[in-house]
Amino acid sequence: MTPDYLATEELRDDRDNRELEENVHPAVWQNPVPARKYDFVVLGAGPAGVLAARQAAQQGAKVALIERDLIGGECLNTGCIPSKAIIRTARLYAEMREAENFGARVPGDIHADFPLAMERMRHVRARIGRESYSARQLASIGVDVYFGEGRFAQPNVIVVSDKKLRFDKALVATGSRPLIPSIPGLAEAGYLTNEDVFDLTECPRRLAVIGGGPLGCELAQAFCRLGSQVAIVQSEPMFLRQEERDAAQILAEAFARDGIGVYLNTDVVRVRIEGGEKFIDLDTDGDKSTIVVDEILVGTGRTPNVERLDLDLVGVKYDTENGVHINDFLQTTNPRIYAAGDVCFEHTFTHIEDASADIVVQNALFLGRKRLSALTIPWCTYTDPEIAHVGLYVREAQKKGIAVKTITVLMHDVHRAIADGEAEGFVKIHLKPGSDRILGATVVARHAGEMINDLTLAISSSIGLRDLGRVIRPYPTQAQAIEMAADAYGEARVLPALRRMLSRWLTR
Ligand SMILES: Cc1cc2nc3c(=O)[nH]c(=O)nc-3n(C[C@H](O)[C@H](O)[C@H](O)COP(=O)(O)OP(=O)(O)OC[C@H]3O[C@@H](n4cnc5c(N)ncnc54)[C@H](O)[C@@H]3O)c2cc1C
Repeated sequence: MTPDYLATEELRDDRDNRELEENVHPAVWQNPVPARKYDFVVLGAGPAGVLAARQAAQQGAKVALIERDLIGGECLNTGCIPSKAIIRTARLYAEMREAENFGARVPGDIHADFPLAMERMRHVRARIGRESYSARQLASIGVDVYFGEGRFAQPNVIVVSDKKLRFDKALVATGSRPLIPSIPGLAEAGYLTNEDVFDLTECPRRLAVIGGGPLGCELAQAFCRLGSQVAIVQSEPMFLRQEERDAAQILAEAFARDGIGVYLNTDVVRVRIEGGEKFIDLDTDGDKSTIVVDEILVGTGRTPNVERLDLDLVGVKYDTENGVHINDFLQTTNPRIYAAGDVCFEHTFTHIEDASADIVVQNALFLGRKRLSALTIPWCTYTDPEIAHVGLYVREAQKKGIAVKTITVLMHDVHRAIADGEAEGFVKIHLKPGSDRILGATVVARHAGEMINDLTLAISSSIGLRDLGRVIRPYPTQAQAIEMAADAYGEARVLPALRRMLSRWLTR
């Protein structure tokens, strides 16, 4: 089977793609002879499946892992890794263009070399494929790796190719795929998704991104900085629907500065092809307009891979919108079958897969009672600036009738952010009123994805803001914003009382 990204001659000959293929779907691979019975069979070798299979094998279980396409799934091949790799190159170009802001002068015009950026991306992907998702490496730790499409055949049997794998426990980790909106003319005009956008070898001159969620926002900014004239169309009033409004507002401003055409509150009505160009008819609160582009990238959500698994046969409930139904122990409606990852989770992130692998392996194989709800899960959108969040949002707290007190520190007051020329953004910490218990936090900053970790640790380990502020951090770092928030909390609580005491002392 030829992986999609090797579809063109040029990419087939690419050294890095060849290396990747050799690791994540070797051209020559003999599926093993099935064991009499497996303790654990995993369907789908994305991060959720691989991490669970690896953990189970390392703990002595007899494990089979089935993948129909590429080990590493979306994250390695068409998601996290390729996107982060091109975002890095895109940021470099943005910084070169803004050299004067950093006290530097770059001679001449700067033209992004798109093919070179994609070459680096393929190199990064191949390296991570080799180090973390190699079929041979998995086999070497005792995982029986099968290539082929798997499906349930009997309550304790999964079939792959012509092999029957008997299991004691199974995991469905089949992931998700792009959800394509039903826009008249879109299919006829042709469009890109994350599944093929990283195969591009030339930068589209004009690119429309439909969808203003994390994927749309990250790639719109990256492609703009790599040389495309980008327009991003979002049906809602703000990007990143779930984030706080001021965070999304900063992003909209950053997009405008980058030169991205921003269309909020806008629906795509129709797509037409005329003279080889793609005309996109838009409706912005009743105002009609048309943009003309060469390529369209669709980033309007995900749909879980639940088809052709014969889940009904084994009593596993699912629906095509939310995927496989699970309980807090990651068990499906068949207690011997578990599910994890994009096929069943509300939030679709690779970093949940590590923790969920642990939950599944402990609960399925070692009588554990670990719960998904016990996890504190942060997330980050890797735009510039990054937007990261953990815990409760204010609007969520309001809905639940929970009062919050918010402390905000602006990055333009943080010495390191000023020195770095990265003073855009804020750290916002939501506390339980009258205490320093952290209920939630949003960070908008160049390194928000790193800074959110302190706050995640604090929430998961019940460390209050006061103690978090007592951590001695090297000066100057951008994470000092958290210390400043702790100081602000202390000042608001302690200073008035202290002032009263001191003034009584002085006027004695
Ligand atoms: C552009 C983009 C950027 C992203 N960036 C980030 C990021 O920065 N950070 C982050 O945390 N997340 C990110 N994500 C999300 C992340 O990629 C997913 O959450 C993660 O890959 C989900 O892992 P999974 O194992 O559940 O599913 P997948 O990675 O989708 O893997 C499922 C696997 O199952 C296989 N499969 C399906 N059906 C069968 C079958 N019947 N038989 C055998 N095999 C089957 C598939 O081929 C696939 O390999 C990004 C996603 C995209 C699209």
